Amino acid sequence: MPSDHPLDRYDPPGGSPARGARALTLVIVLAALVPLCFAGWLGWHALAADGRSHPVTAAAPDGRTASPRPTASSAASSAASTAASPAAGTAAGTSASAAAPGGSAPAAAPKAAALPLTGKVVVIDPGHNPDNYLHPDQVNALVQVGNGSKACDTTGTETDAGYPEADFTLDVARRVRTVLQAEGATVVFTQDGNLPWGPCVTQRAEIGNAAHADAALSIHGDGAGADDHGFHVILPAVVVGGGADTRPIVGPSRTLGLDLRSAFHTATGEPFASYVNQGTGLDVRSDLGGLNLSTVPKVFIECGNMRNATDAGRMTSAAWRQLAAQGIASGLRAFLLHQN
Ligand code: ZN
Repeated sequence: MPSDHPLDRYDPPGGSPARGARALTLVIVLAALVPLCFAGWLGWHALAADGRSHPVTAAAPDGRTASPRPTASSAASSAASTAASPAAGTAAGTSASAAAPGGSAPAAAPKAAALPLTGKVVVIDPGHNPDNYLHPDQVNALVQVGNGSKACDTTGTETDAGYPEADFTLDVARRVRTVLQAEGATVVFTQDGNLPWGPCVTQRAEIGNAAHADAALSIHGDGAGADDHGFHVILPAVVVGGGADTRPIVGPSRTLGLDLRSAFHTATGEPFASYVNQGTGLDVRSDLGGLNLSTVPKVFIECGNMRNATDAGRMTSAAWRQLAAQGIASGLRAFLLHQN
């Protein structure tokens, strides 16, 4: 029947009741089909847009998404770019955009970039060597330290009960290394209990110089009178000549020393040394080869007086050495992060 033809929809409203009912059915069907087709078009458009978004995002100069409809992965890359430093943000954004949607790159990249000391180099010098006493000829040989000559190294002191300074310095140094490495720093040791003796003070300085250290620290315990107690930091004096020139490092080393003094005191509660430089917790010396020959910011810390009963009690405690290490790491961190 001609009336069954779809063109019947163009029949005027005044047509027969049967044709009108068929026309109504047709309108309902069409009304249902139009949104379905529109939804289908939207779906196709979404696929096409999603397919374009990744190449466009990857090409964006700042690593942020250029898509008008951010996907979950591009939104994450945007967040990563915002949270990280400019340079790291670009790298994180690019890697996130290059990854497939739902990839793990956006989650991994900001974690690496978030470590505060990434890119910083710290040289830790554990004072002396537990076996120096076995090698007196090598250890006592004279070396040039700019303004004179000194012994290659020394045996160091010990507590009255026989706990050696060299054991103390190595233990604290290793604890400091653990803290700093967890924060992203590169940590270089001058010796790690792996040498028969030394190294000489000249080499201890040279290792920091060769590493282009952002900061160098020599860790010690003092051997003063039994009534003397407390800790102090030793800063380099101006020494010029004989291969030494500390003028470029005197200023930054002082800043490093002040940061260390403050952080170590806060972490350990150890007072400033009662017997050094009017109890200021700071000394300036021109007789230490490890400072005279340094071309990078460097200080010594005398963590306490091993010949004092109170200080010895602390220094022989592993728990206190951990506090000492955390204080030292905090001081280094403060210096490294406000460095230009
Ligand atoms: Zn020492």
